[in-house]
Amino acid sequence: MLVRVPDYFDQFQCLAGACPHTCCEKWEVVIDQESAAFYETVPGDLGEKLRSALKEDEDGDLCFPLNGGRCPFLDEDNLCEIHKKLGEEATSVTCREHPRFTEDYGPFREITLSASCPAANALLLGSEAPLTFRSFETEEPEEDGDDWLTHLLPLRGRMLDLLTDRSRPLKARLASFLALALAAQDCLEEDCPEELPEVGEAVLSPAAEGLFPAALSFLASLEVMDPDWPALLKQAETVEPEAVPEELLERIAVYFAFRYLLKAVNDADLLGRAELCVFAVLVIERLAAVCGLTEALRRFSCEIEHDDGNLDALLEAFAMDGALSPERFLAELGQ
Ligand code: SF4
Repeated sequence: MLVRVPDYFDQFQCLAGACPHTCCEKWEVVIDQESAAFYETVPGDLGEKLRSALKEDEDGDLCFPLNGGRCPFLDEDNLCEIHKKLGEEATSVTCREHPRFTEDYGPFREITLSASCPAANALLLGSEAPLTFRSFETEEPEEDGDDWLTHLLPLRGRMLDLLTDRSRPLKARLASFLALALAAQDCLEEDCPEELPEVGEAVLSPAAEGLFPAALSFLASLEVMDPDWPALLKQAETVEPEAVPEELLERIAVYFAFRYLLKAVNDADLLGRAELCVFAVLVIERLAAVCGLTEALRRFSCEIEHDDGNLDALLEAFAMDGALSPERFLAELGQ
């Protein structure tokens, strides 16, 4: 099977005990059945601790409830007790996979590294070169995929090319990216995906107002992971935006576009996902004036990318909320 990854994928290395924002804090990790069954067999004090820590959450999933905001197996050196005493393979699938986001499309698989992880974030923002992707083959057999992939894949290629066309200002590129998604959305809704590779950019008049501060208020209404997130959003409403290198914002746009656009194969919502990419860039640019670009990206990723409910609420708002309409996006982009 063909696997696609960002060009910096192989450079990723977990910071372990030196991580300033360890993923073993704040998030309650779901424990898969296989790991839970293994924990039943572990002897001694660690076995006892594993079994007494394992609880069912409100969704019926097994997890280790946090203790003071930390995983109960995170020791005083910020290292995982399970990993140290039983080896990495004894940790749960979620722990072993993080910060990888894996999407299986059938004939191919795509893996990204979540920008919520400081090490992955540093790799994404550690270069101003256009972000590229490479692919490799694995022994695993391909599976059938949705027919729409044949048409969506080249369209996503065009959309990524638009984003990385450095002959134009980034905001003009983002506007073209949205206009192309808007026209493509019509093809999907009319069930003519074969027209996608040739579709042109839709023409749309910008609204009188842009996205802000409505975009920040909307984010503040979503589920919050870190209690100071709403205050950060509030500060961003009044702080003057600071200049952020376009090359880095472009890499952020490409990161989101690669991760989200193809998911339209599942529900035909390509426009919503294109809006999500542009929304992320514009919000992160604003937050950067409050906490710096690296932290802005990390916080956005933690609060939005790791909460499916928040992602769904954003997609719904793009479709339903006039304050987050494509016309508002265009006005915000100055187009
Ligand atoms: S957030 Fe990233 S670098 Fe930090 S502990 Fe988790 S995987 Fe390692």
